Amino acid sequence: MITENIQKILKTIPGDVTVLAAAKTRSVEMVREAHQAGLIHFGHNYVQEAAAMIPVIQEEIQWHMIGHLQRNKAKQALGLFDMVDSVDSQRLADELEKQARQLERILPIMIEINIGEEEAKAGIDPNQALQLADYIGNLSHVQLAGVMTMGPLSGDPENSRAYFKQTRKIFEQIKSVQPDIQILSMGMSHDYLVAVEEGATMIRLGTAIFGERPQKV
Ligand SMILES: *Cc1c(COP(=O)(O)O)cnc(C)c1O
Repeated sequence: MITENIQKILKTIPGDVTVLAAAKTRSVEMVREAHQAGLIHFGHNYVQEAAAMIPVIQEEIQWHMIGHLQRNKAKQALGLFDMVDSVDSQRLADELEKQARQLERILPIMIEINIGEEEAKAGIDPNQALQLADYIGNLSHVQLAGVMTMGPLSGDPENSRAYFKQTRKIFEQIKSVQPDIQILSMGMSHDYLVAVEEGATMIRLGTAIFGERPQKV
């Protein structure tokens, strides 16, 4: 089922759009199957859940932290993830910088923008995103790779379009100053086609790949 789902999804999007599989609540076996079906990027929302899965999986996977990261978990997160997609404050960027420096490593990170100001409170205020990007641009052990946003969590995909447009605008503004940023991560199972139309280079899919979650997380 997972393999068929992925094959179907890949047919509906351009080849240069990256699919990230949101693995929260899923089993190691499910993640392995998705990897075998061709996916490389996987995300987790919680450090604790990631710590139970990532060390067990030997496959060549790029692990993304896509949930809110507490600063006191930054060190542990660096031991698990290849990238942190959900940076929403200077203080978190500073902590990741400090931990990456200690490991003599360069950590790719993304700024999460709270574009919808709704249920999902994660992310930085859109008005502060450019400032945070500038700030991160001056750090040496974290490297800004892109921007992520969550649109509305469900409902008519067209409701997401205005948020995606706005996020893309911020992405382009940052890119005009930091041309190396590549990733515009937006769109989930219900609205990824709209996200792709609005310029997403990465979409994050859980339900569309793995089926309904046991409970909504
Ligand atoms: C769960 C999750 C997704 C995927 O959600 P689906 O609706 O199941 O596709 C995407 N992004 C984040 C940050 C998530 O937590």
